[in-house]
Amino acid sequence: MSTNLPPSIPCPCGSGQWLSDCCGPYLQGQRPAPTAEALMRSRYSAYCTKTIDYLVKTHHPQYREPHSRHQIAATANSVTWLGLTIIATEQGQAGDQTGIVEFVALFQDGKRAMQLHERSRFRQEMGQWFYLDGDLLPPLHPKKNEPCWCKSGKTFKQCHGKKR
Ligand SMILES: [Zn+2]
Ligand SMILES: [Zn+2]
Repeated sequence: MSTNLPPSIPCPCGSGQWLSDCCGPYLQGQRPAPTAEALMRSRYSAYCTKTIDYLVKTHHPQYREPHSRHQIAATANSVTWLGLTIIATEQGQAGDQTGIVEFVALFQDGKRAMQLHERSRFRQEMGQWFYLDGDLLPPLHPKKNEPCWCKSGKTFKQCHGKKR
């Protein structure tokens, strides 16, 4: 797989680790993501770093649309991702066959901050986790005085929750 990842940036998934110590080895095909959540986080990082091959490869072949590569590339190139928050996980551990990850991904669309709130399904086959599909859920927000999900360090009230 050909990837050109920036050498040392904080991992886009928001783990607080360097990319090379977090999602980087998965994106570069050095080892598979060990859990459904790790795969979810690495797919988010793949969108941020425009690692299209990885997004195609980790979408289960039976669930992939014929033109998914083109769509993935279009999404990755048109959207600026602001932050990922994992809301809940069910199963999805190394010994499980299936897993569910609910997350909110904030992104900038023109001047507006939007969010993708999805409950995604994953399946493990031969030691490799795959994304299957997901249900879109209504927008969700942190409480006013909780940290904003864009990881700015400000509270939600002072940041993306500001009344305009
Ligand atoms: Zn990461
Ligand atoms: Zn914010």
